[in-house]
Amino acid sequence: MKPTVIIQACEKYDVDKIEIIIRAGLDSLSLTPSGRTLIKPNVVAAGDKFPHAYTRPEFIEGVIRAIKSKAEDAAEIAVGERCGITVPTRYAFKNAGYYEIFKRTKIKHYHFEEETQVEIQLDHKDRLRDFIFVPEAIAKTDFFVNCPKFKAHPWTTVTFSMKNYIGIQDDRHRLIDHDHKLNQKVADLQHVLQPQFIAIDAITAGEGRMLTPIPFDLGLIIMGNNQVAFDAVCCHIIGVDPLSVEHIRLAYEMGFGPVDLNEIEIIGDVSLKEAQRKAEGFRVGLIRVEEYFEGTNIQAYAGAPPDSNDDEYCWGGCPGAMEEAIEIMRMFDDQTDEKTPRTHIVFGNYKGKINAKDNEKVIFIGDCTSFKGKISGKDIAFDSAYTDRSEKSPYDAKDPDIFSKMLSVEKVWFQNRNEQVIRILGCPVSVAEQVLLLVKLGKLKNPYFDPNEVMNFSNCYFSSKTKMAIERLTGKSYLSEKVERGAAQTHSEDDKKGAAE
Ligand code: SF4
Repeated sequence: MKPTVIIQACEKYDVDKIEIIIRAGLDSLSLTPSGRTLIKPNVVAAGDKFPHAYTRPEFIEGVIRAIKSKAEDAAEIAVGERCGITVPTRYAFKNAGYYEIFKRTKIKHYHFEEETQVEIQLDHKDRLRDFIFVPEAIAKTDFFVNCPKFKAHPWTTVTFSMKNYIGIQDDRHRLIDHDHKLNQKVADLQHVLQPQFIAIDAITAGEGRMLTPIPFDLGLIIMGNNQVAFDAVCCHIIGVDPLSVEHIRLAYEMGFGPVDLNEIEIIGDVSLKEAQRKAEGFRVGLIRVEEYFEGTNIQAYAGAPPDSNDDEYCWGGCPGAMEEAIEIMRMFDDQTDEKTPRTHIVFGNYKGKINAKDNEKVIFIGDCTSFKGKISGKDIAFDSAYTDRSEKSPYDAKDPDIFSKMLSVEKVWFQNRNEQVIRILGCPVSVAEQVLLLVKLGKLKNPYFDPNEVMNFSNCYFSSKTKMAIERLTGKSYLSEKVERGAAQTHSEDDKKGAAE
């Protein structure tokens, strides 16, 4: 049997209809959920301010109901996720309306950052590192259901099935290699496990960005049983060559599945041509930061990331995070563009000129920034502070706490309040930190202190921290266990063999 992708029409978020479509999809693919069954949505951010960023609750409820009705001998059916960095998954699940669903359907859920993290050995060629950490629930999954949202992505072109894996790691480990090697990191994560079933929420897709996408009514549910084939078909729907998306190309080259349409069975009540018609005009989000900020008070400059040619760009790190940060600020403060003073923001090893006036701040973002030249007539020179990835061990990874990030941005800002040139270090400097930087720069409203959200956020934050502290005290948490890949490895190897055959 060729890897199969099913394209099905679904115009509305109707739970009953979604359940019927998913059940039929499982039947067509002859799949029976069993053992430890785990559903992984994309809830990078949720709620009123992020209505199109996440797998909608109606969709996930339809999937849960279908999985429950088809499951045989399921030891467990659960939903698990790690949402956007520094935000508690409890907060994202609450804003997404997921807890009501867990209650109604009586299934378990995992906030991945609160779970025991276990070590997974990697041994494939050209890997970024020899081992990584994932939550135990992921490592022990027997039947994995990937339920992403159909979106563009400013760092990786698209976020379909494979890219949804960035949410299988807690913040400490997700931030490692989340730089110009992000696509390779996503490809390496494919070795942890492969999904038996994929169902993407493409009813309302998201254009342009990943946290604040522009809604695009696509009216589709797409399902499949091979992640590379699945992502390739999604790319064809929006007119993108799958091999131009680096993580898809790498996973294809690693043997995880085909990208050639002749090697993929496409079925369903919507043909590929009809789906392409529906997606006409869909815009992906791969825009360099210099172009992104054209016409605003921010002038952006991007040099090359470490160990790269001069024309290369860090697609997976700081520049893209700044694009997401400004969009978040525009949502929380509609005066963002007017209030932000003229500022110059620099990334990477920048070798050009910076035409800043005396009263204009110049902010260098990221460990890898380096510069030698004149700014407002003064000689400025500093080297990169980048630490090579070979010197960063997952064992030493630190939890990026939002309140300590606030304090550190506050401290850097205060210490440099009279300086024209400021450096913000980190690799990457996260979206959250760049949001806080923009808050300081334009004296904008701090989204973390939004009066409508502050109680809700704080409650989730302290519940999450308390749970993690208890886990640590009882010796069940961070890095306390070292496991070989079990079921996950078996599935991965089987799937690879199946795809090769
Ligand atoms: S510091 Fe930022 S721009 Fe530089 S390599 Fe790291 S993530 Fe990329």
